Amino acid sequence: MKLLWLQGLACGGNTQSFLCAENPSVSEVLEGFEILFAPSITWDRYEEEVVFHVLKEEVELDVFILEGAVGDTRRICRRDFEDVVRELAHRARYVIALGNCAVFGNIPARYSREVKGLQFRFEKRGGFLGEGFTSRAGYPVINLSGCPAHPSWLSYVLLKILNGKRLELDDLGRPKELYAHLTHHGCTRNEYFEWKVEAEELGRKEGCLFYYFGCRGPMTHSSCNRILWNGVNSKTRAGMPCVGCTEYDFPRENMFKTEHAMGVPEELPLGVSKRGYILISGIAKTFAPERLKKRLIDEG
Ligand code: SF4
Repeated sequence: MKLLWLQGLACGGNTQSFLCAENPSVSEVLEGFEILFAPSITWDRYEEEVVFHVLKEEVELDVFILEGAVGDTRRICRRDFEDVVRELAHRARYVIALGNCAVFGNIPARYSREVKGLQFRFEKRGGFLGEGFTSRAGYPVINLSGCPAHPSWLSYVLLKILNGKRLELDDLGRPKELYAHLTHHGCTRNEYFEWKVEAEELGRKEGCLFYYFGCRGPMTHSSCNRILWNGVNSKTRAGMPCVGCTEYDFPRENMFKTEHAMGVPEELPLGVSKRGYILISGIAKTFAPERLKKRLIDEG
């Protein structure tokens, strides 16, 4: 299977993330592919030369990965980068948008109306390729949101494609298997959340980061706390709030702060009503076990 990976308006973070893939490793995942070009992975060829041959010789393209947003970018093979992306997307059997910029436009789109994700611009469907776009294999753009996307998410999709398995996508074009859960699921701070015990400062082992530190875990779709990063940790486990980087409204202002109205967080966990929240959280706070209010390890 032939795979081509290009970067639009990107910082390269998704490439760096994928290079950290383990179980399976990058080489194990890519074993079944012929990599025409991939930044930092192919070292013996020039991007422009490869793209020129793909376009000129009409090479059958199986997988086209775009990292970064589209629009207002560079020229490649004496053509606008956007034209080349459009042609490659229509030629590929599968098109993957890798990272929040490629999916939603994200940070670059905040600075120009011309900048878009491949099939979305923030929450609005359409994006660069249009709402009705499907690749030759019959899929819309397969979206792997995240800033960056977890390396295992790309590995999962590539191995599914390689083995001819069907991918089930959610309303935002993301594989359900990877994005059905919330970041909140699997967080080691769940008991603190339930009893409304807030962390006193960032980086501590104790407390939940939802009530004051802006944690988006209860409204962000990702498997970060189920599969962890580098197999060992996650933001929230380490004491930093989830910043919601897999969703279309990332990044937001004041990401480390929970905005309140009349003492209630302005945004509540997905599906929780304001009335239900007030009722439950009041009781929870009143009856929170004393042990949750103490340091886990007495550091003297
Ligand atoms: S820190 Fe965030 S993810 Fe963890 S329990 Fe609290 S709200 Fe959920």
